[in-house]
Amino acid sequence: MFESLSQRLSSTVQRLRGRGRLTEDNIREALREVRVALLEADVALPVVQALVERIKVRAIGQEVLKSLTPGQALIKVVRDELTKLMGSAADELNLNVPAPAVILMAGLQGAGKTTTVGKLAKLLKERRKKKVMVVSCDVYRPAAIKQLETLAQQVDVLFFPSSTGQAPVDIAKAAVSEARKQFVDVLLVDTAGRLAIDPAMMDEIKKLHAGLDPVETLFVVDSMTGQDAATTARAFADALPLTGVVLTKTDGDARGGAALSVRYVTGRPIKFIGTAEKMDGLDVFHPDRVASRILDMGDVLSLVEEVERKVDKDKAAKLAEKVVKGKKFDLNDMHDQLEQMLNMGGLTTLLDKLPGIGAIPEKLKSQVNDKEIHRSIAIIRSMTKKERRHPTLLNGSRRARIARGSGTSPADVNKLMKQYQQMEKMMSKMSGGGLKGMMRGMKG
Ligand code: GDP
Repeated sequence: MFESLSQRLSSTVQRLRGRGRLTEDNIREALREVRVALLEADVALPVVQALVERIKVRAIGQEVLKSLTPGQALIKVVRDELTKLMGSAADELNLNVPAPAVILMAGLQGAGKTTTVGKLAKLLKERRKKKVMVVSCDVYRPAAIKQLETLAQQVDVLFFPSSTGQAPVDIAKAAVSEARKQFVDVLLVDTAGRLAIDPAMMDEIKKLHAGLDPVETLFVVDSMTGQDAATTARAFADALPLTGVVLTKTDGDARGGAALSVRYVTGRPIKFIGTAEKMDGLDVFHPDRVASRILDMGDVLSLVEEVERKVDKDKAAKLAEKVVKGKKFDLNDMHDQLEQMLNMGGLTTLLDKLPGIGAIPEKLKSQVNDKEIHRSIAIIRSMTKKERRHPTLLNGSRRARIARGSGTSPADVNKLMKQYQQMEKMMSKMSGGGLKGMMRGMKG
């Protein structure tokens, strides 16, 4: 998300970064560029005006001009104001009510509502250790009910069945009493979406809201629709007491106009963003981290959290132990490491969160892909157990066999072996005295 906005904004502010002196003229010119960048990112006009005005007031004041490092101070002001625009701190779900906490999901058809219900169920179950049930009140599309059932199975949460002959309010109420019986912590209610907001849809969702009294009412909207996302959310917020917005498909949105407009236009926080089609593609929305990302200061915090969550700690501990004890790093270890990288979303996802990445040309970035990792894993899997443990066995004919088995070329196998040798060398340098010495050094 934000690639193009980030490129423009960060180059504008970075240009001022190193300056020892800034004048009002420099700042005004930079702000003009900021304004154009925001408009091109499809941020709603009133939002652009408000944001640029707030930055201007602070930038032309004492804070920046009198600062010893005015460029840095300006970047800080832009970062602060971007953060504030999106809501300052992350807004968590409110689940502090007698169980079951009901979460009502609304949105237009195709926005990603049902997918988000599945993702949210998974997140609540795995990260917040909640017992979750889902139900669909989309009585117009049997396929939607079926889709939710499939997702519920996939993420392994309870599914309350419903059918097209029933009234949405009746389905929802029956689900609540079943959830209560089964000691469910959170009930997620999926609703029908239409192609555009219409009175019948509004009426139905209002009735559902009144009948359920949900603790959270989330509006799901496609970020690729830019500032329209904010306008649609606004129409819903006018009719229903929304507690938050979920922005989907941010992985396909290079501009970021929706993320920057929603809070200002609707007065409601963005609580989550959808970052991929798959079920773990949902992140808590952290305005401060997103602002840093837009200014290309990286999102190292999210990266660290992701690594903590996704790394297989047992395997990592085993490898560390091996290294410390000076045991040989073999191709099984390399295989595990490559798999861990894929688990973390692959190189492309990791890269996206590192500082300074915006400065790397798009063309170069697109060359970094995960094909290579997949290829390396396939090669190692075509080896016998013995070969993986004793890589020195791999002579020419064995390598040719492995290339055939993995659908690669002998050159690919040779390349992998070279990478392995480099890793092995690095590991053996760290092992024994090296790493222990390093650890002693850290403790001392
Ligand atoms: P609904 O009609 O609002 O329930 O929409 P669906 O949940 O059926 O989603 C519509 C399409 O958007 C599906 O193909 C989803 O896989 C896709 N989708 C949903 N969220 C995301 C996301 O965050 N990223 C991507 N890339 N696709 C998504």
